[in-house]
Amino acid sequence: TNQRAYNFNAGPSALPLEVLEKAQQEIVNFQGAGMSIMEMSHRSANYEEVHNSAIARLRKLFSIPENYEVLFLQGGASLQFTMVPMNFLSEGQKASYVLTGSWSEKALKEAKLFGTPVEAASTKENKYRNIPALSEIGFNADDAYVHVTSNNTIYGTQWKEFPETGDVPLVADMSSDILSRPVDVSKFGIIYAGAQKNLGPSGVTVVIIRKDLLEKANTNIPTMLKYTTHADSNSLYNTPPTFGIYMLGEVLRWVEEKGGLEAIEKQNVEKAKVIYDVIDNSNGFFTGHATEDSRSLMNITFRVADEELEKQFLAEAKAAGFVGLNGHRSVGGCRASTYNAVPFEACQALANFMLDFQRKHQ
Ligand code: PMP
Repeated sequence: TNQRAYNFNAGPSALPLEVLEKAQQEIVNFQGAGMSIMEMSHRSANYEEVHNSAIARLRKLFSIPENYEVLFLQGGASLQFTMVPMNFLSEGQKASYVLTGSWSEKALKEAKLFGTPVEAASTKENKYRNIPALSEIGFNADDAYVHVTSNNTIYGTQWKEFPETGDVPLVADMSSDILSRPVDVSKFGIIYAGAQKNLGPSGVTVVIIRKDLLEKANTNIPTMLKYTTHADSNSLYNTPPTFGIYMLGEVLRWVEEKGGLEAIEKQNVEKAKVIYDVIDNSNGFFTGHATEDSRSLMNITFRVADEELEKQFLAEAKAAGFVGLNGHRSVGGCRASTYNAVPFEACQALANFMLDFQRKHQ
């Protein structure tokens, strides 16, 4: 456990050491049950307690109002690209999608299978370097919903504030920044996120959905793909990913112990700052991909001025024990993902390494 790497993976990504150690302790014999949580029935009292306390913790930490359901599903955020329109879009009906990266594009593509989604705004022409101004986002009062991606994992951009959509439900893919900062959940109709960045291991998808929407959902769709199926059974319609939910509950406990979302956000600001400062003070040796006002606190994307030097930077960083600094395979460059569980010390070490590299190679 003292051989932990500087883990900047984009997802799956770093988990808190304390959580891993607790899971390690409990893996052979969970609270005297004589078995791990993985080996017991999802209908057992032990598991039910784990399941319900994870939901309760998420409700409390994220200040989720009473009129929302919290669901634990499977299929990743990618299945939510399908489930959202399958449940809420009908043939000929419109929904507005704001395109801020590849994940938004994928969400839009799925919606086309069910209705007539439109681009409400797109920053593709600017290589997805920025989030559009709220005033540029056009949507219609008769849209089924407006869809945004709160943090763009590949391009390293993040929404700082969200559009007011009135009676039109706002749907957000928060996969890569959920629980990294306080959010006013009441502004959203649906929030969804794969767990494997800030919440736990992959295999669990969190969906937070306003209850009145459930009543309006399409009914002529497969049982497992209906939100109501899972809402009506407390996400226990079929066997849930029990170990993942246990881990998620422990990660939430860890966030609580850290002081909640205000404290976590403060840490995330400080962590990102040490790295962005190196980029900004490098006289162009390092260049950030995102425009300053759209910078993500979770995924810091940058290039090294010269392509050969960039290869060398990534190779030397790897040799020095930094993991996961290669940019997404679709865009190249460098990316440091600094999710909740990445300690400040790792960010400081990376900043120092970057400074050193520049000094040697400039
Ligand atoms: N949306 C965003 C913003 C993501 O970062 C990812 C995964 N990196 C996805 C969706 C897809 O998630 P999953 O692999 O859980 O389907």
